Amino acid sequence: MTVLEQLQERSGNTCELCGSTEKLMMYEVPPVSTGGVDGSLLACNTCLHQIDNPDGVDPNHWRCLNDSMWSEHDAVKVVAWRMLNRLKSEGWPQDLLGMMYLDDATLEWAKATGDGQDESEKVVHRDVNGNILENGDSVVLVKDLKVKGSSMVAKQGTAVRRISLDHENAEYIEGKVDGQHIVLVTKYVKKI
Ligand SMILES: [Zn+2]
Repeated sequence: MTVLEQLQERSGNTCELCGSTEKLMMYEVPPVSTGGVDGSLLACNTCLHQIDNPDGVDPNHWRCLNDSMWSEHDAVKVVAWRMLNRLKSEGWPQDLLGMMYLDDATLEWAKATGDGQDESEKVVHRDVNGNILENGDSVVLVKDLKVKGSSMVAKQGTAVRRISLDHENAEYIEGKVDGQHIVLVTKYVKKI
């Protein structure tokens, strides 16, 4: 079974966040290095769109987390935790966060995208031109890069889609080139 099929079976073909049965897609919970069934969830278009576009979030949609935050799957808990943190100023998400329990490893995963941190503590990633990079952005390489631990060379001009940020270090981002998961240095990429 593919990862998608396993997720469909696990969720009974429903969005694991809000329960919708419409337009379901697989979501690899960033950083995508976790991958696989345990690192992914099945979510509807509405949820995914709002996860990727923090400015367009409808707080009421996320009342669904009241239920899904109790999921037995870490990937679901991680996304619930992140969304509750983003919505903290609404009040009720704060109460839910207070009830939620994540073990240390899961909490570390949840924090990897910077959600739940104060703006001042955030590590800011900038491309070669000083533009701020966010999770999910696409970048293009501005020089040939040797890929660590392999004989592969990622060519200048190669596009890397849906990057994820290394939250500990402002110099690194992660992404896939030719299906291979690699770490890139921010000063050698340009946002597209
Ligand atoms: Zn949904």
